[in-house]
Amino acid sequence: MTETAHPRTAPLRARAEIDLAALRANVRTLRAHAPTAAVMAVVKSDAYGHGAVPCARAAREAGATWLGTATPEEALALRAAGLPGRIMCWLWTPGGPWAEAIEAGIDVSVSGMWALREAALAAETVGSPARVQLKADTGLGRGGCQPADWPELVAEALGAEARGLITVTGLWSHFACADEPGHPSIQAQLTLFREMVAYAEEQGVRPEVRHIANSPATLTLPESHFDLVRTGIAVYGISPSPELGTPADFGLRPVMTLSASLSLVKHAPAGHGVSYGHHYVTPGETTLGLVPVGYADGIPRHASGTGPVLVGGKWRTVAGRVAMDQFVVDLGGDEPEPGARAVLFGPGDDGEPTAEDWARAAGTIAYEIVTRIGTRVPRVYVNVNEEQDG
Ligand SMILES: *Cc1c(COP(=O)(O)O)cnc(C)c1O
Repeated sequence: MTETAHPRTAPLRARAEIDLAALRANVRTLRAHAPTAAVMAVVKSDAYGHGAVPCARAAREAGATWLGTATPEEALALRAAGLPGRIMCWLWTPGGPWAEAIEAGIDVSVSGMWALREAALAAETVGSPARVQLKADTGLGRGGCQPADWPELVAEALGAEARGLITVTGLWSHFACADEPGHPSIQAQLTLFREMVAYAEEQGVRPEVRHIANSPATLTLPESHFDLVRTGIAVYGISPSPELGTPADFGLRPVMTLSASLSLVKHAPAGHGVSYGHHYVTPGETTLGLVPVGYADGIPRHASGTGPVLVGGKWRTVAGRVAMDQFVVDLGGDEPEPGARAVLFGPGDDGEPTAEDWARAAGTIAYEIVTRIGTRVPRVYVNVNEEQDG
């Protein structure tokens, strides 16, 4: 990831501008949505493509007391970059870096017996207790411990705690359909979560935090907030689902603006096939602009013929196929200079499309659009200092 002091003058093929003031404002907005809970900024997968370390720092500045990652490697990288405070990770496989995580003071999630045993064994070697959060499967059917297996996991955890090998710091779960308010699974999961937490507490578990809310639950379901909300997509200013509302409806602002410099503008005659497969044919004499990003940069090939781009104040559409490194737009006779800025998506302030527009064009969700943006696209951080916040 590139950090550039003078982003607006850098002659880049393409760039993903990351507005850290917007990110900080989003975190503050989320704190206001969940005033009784702490906020975890989920920065897995390189902060959904925005760059984990700068985003984690900015989220911390804005009051996110927890950072969350999927893998332990992501969590350890945050610690290695000097981020203090609470960090949690939840996606473990046997033989994972338990000792390193314990030494780095990272909270680890455990969904089953094998993981609890590996954590306890590593704690014995390291000589200090592992901070363990027990994950309940309250209905998602993915990670987490099934209700039938919960008593055994809780008992094993209490035993390891009694031997000084672990501290159970949290009890938690994850929603399946929080982005569909009113879905019957939501109340069912909440009820089961309360029951599984109550059981563990009756047995003697004293969790510091109980948590189940992701971004959609944080924004729409106050009763799900408990002690901590785990917000990912909303931190980056994207609505969890267009059906729920726009980012602005929730007081959020998109953080990433993806743009590229046109690498060629040329005249083409009517009837000219464009890009692999000739799925676009110029309807008349026109100009074509070459946008030097492609599916290797995370531009979905599924957006061939549909993806929107703002060039010279006008929306253009990907003409023909998105290739590995480039795609073409029909400029309809306009002749911008080579190097002119083509904005694929951003907050929408200047009429540019949004990540949500690309999601619709590609038949996916905006989470995937931003997260896919590849490492070949430099991240350029703007409004890095908190003093710049209004
Ligand atoms: C990714 C993730 C989140 C964040 O989800 P958003 O919908 O992006 O807010 C929260 N919890 C877990 C377990 C996750 O994997």
